[in-house]
Amino acid sequence: MIKAVRGTRDLLPPDTELWNFVEHTVREVFARYNYREIRTPIFESTELFSRSVGEETDIVSKEMFTWEDKARAASEKTQTLTLRPENTAGVVRAYIEHELGRSGLLQKLYYIGPQFRRERPQKGRYRQFFQIGAEVLGPTTAGSELPIRDAEVLDMLTALLDAVGLTGWTLYLNSVGCAKCRPAYNQALRDALENVKDQMCGDCQRRSETNPLRVLDCKVPEDQPIIEGLPKIADYLDEGCREHFAQVRAILDTLGIPYQVNERMVRGLDYYTRTTFEFTHGKLGSQSAVLGGGRYDGLSEQLDGPKAPGIGFAIGEDRLVLALQAQQQQTLAPLKAFVVPLGEGMNRHALKLAKQLRADGVAVDVSDESFRLKKSFETAEKLGATFAIIVGENEVKADAFAVKNLTSGLQTTVSRSELLGHLED
Ligand code: ATP
Ligand code: MG
Repeated sequence: MIKAVRGTRDLLPPDTELWNFVEHTVREVFARYNYREIRTPIFESTELFSRSVGEETDIVSKEMFTWEDKARAASEKTQTLTLRPENTAGVVRAYIEHELGRSGLLQKLYYIGPQFRRERPQKGRYRQFFQIGAEVLGPTTAGSELPIRDAEVLDMLTALLDAVGLTGWTLYLNSVGCAKCRPAYNQALRDALENVKDQMCGDCQRRSETNPLRVLDCKVPEDQPIIEGLPKIADYLDEGCREHFAQVRAILDTLGIPYQVNERMVRGLDYYTRTTFEFTHGKLGSQSAVLGGGRYDGLSEQLDGPKAPGIGFAIGEDRLVLALQAQQQQTLAPLKAFVVPLGEGMNRHALKLAKQLRADGVAVDVSDESFRLKKSFETAEKLGATFAIIVGENEVKADAFAVKNLTSGLQTTVSRSELLGHLED
């Protein structure tokens, strides 16, 4: 038997309904904030990710699906390609390639799609997973650098989580400084790590040389007390970064958005500057981050583009759906009625009635005239329908139907014109 590849999975009904509900809500909420959809390719040249996400990150150093794409004609070059592990790099590449900054306006873009990382599969962690993300970026003259943008992004996220019905999340916020002040912090970290790195995990020993900020990301329990004692980034932010962070927090306070400052949260991608954030959810166990994001003021230039500061986030859609399921959120309209044709020639009448109800927005399903009444009722119950509506010869003649409430067991006769009102009571 051929099975789905390790770390990938099939999304089946009824789960797909929750996925669709989430995506539908995303489109609706993001549109209210004037975001528009962008779709970028699912593979890009490897260099795009190594130059943006960063060579020393987990993603680039060990999680990418990369292959050599051999030239097939003299006109082609052999290229090294990678399945996208995240989508911000692709969006910024597209921004540069299509000169989206030329209008002088902020670009507010969102995407929904699969991402790929070769990680150890477990609950909430897959090799193909879905992200819902948004980016706001543009020339500095459009205000892309200003704290109001950071706050608006966070406001949109809380509005989305409200709209899908997720409760009990925590927003962690930090500032990781900028290209001007981060080097001093990196140096302070390096110096402090010099004395303690021998007691740390192998990854941290390597990171303390190559990319000391990444040490703060370490999940090894034994390393945690050591990390607690390392210098704090807040003490190294320069005037501009400190003021920016203070303003972001002031706007969030005004909007009534609750957050906790977490000075250790540096996030796993190198392109972040200033604001970084993460939303976690208690019901998710050890993979508790539902989404993460931050500002990336130098990313466009790092990819040879114009200056285009920006901020964005990516929601792990798989984890959002898991959290909603764990919460047993009744966000979906259950099946309202099961229409039961009874007797020969009744299928077309049953389907006509179903068509009428569906046009009125009611979720209904239909049985078949070859089913016995008992089998139809059993099926209706299995499907979770609230009502069974019987369509037999007498009913068709009278244009009134026997309607059985499957919860109470009560059966009444209801005329076609009164049916909708009866079902919605
Ligand atoms: P984590 O610390 O959980 O590995 P990350 O920092 O690698 O997360 P990001 O790259 O910031 O995550 O991606 C944003 C969101 O995408 C995460 O908060 C998470 O919800 C989701 N995500 C990341 N990797 C996976 C994966 N392998 N499977 C499912 N969801 C994922
Ligand atoms: Mg990760």
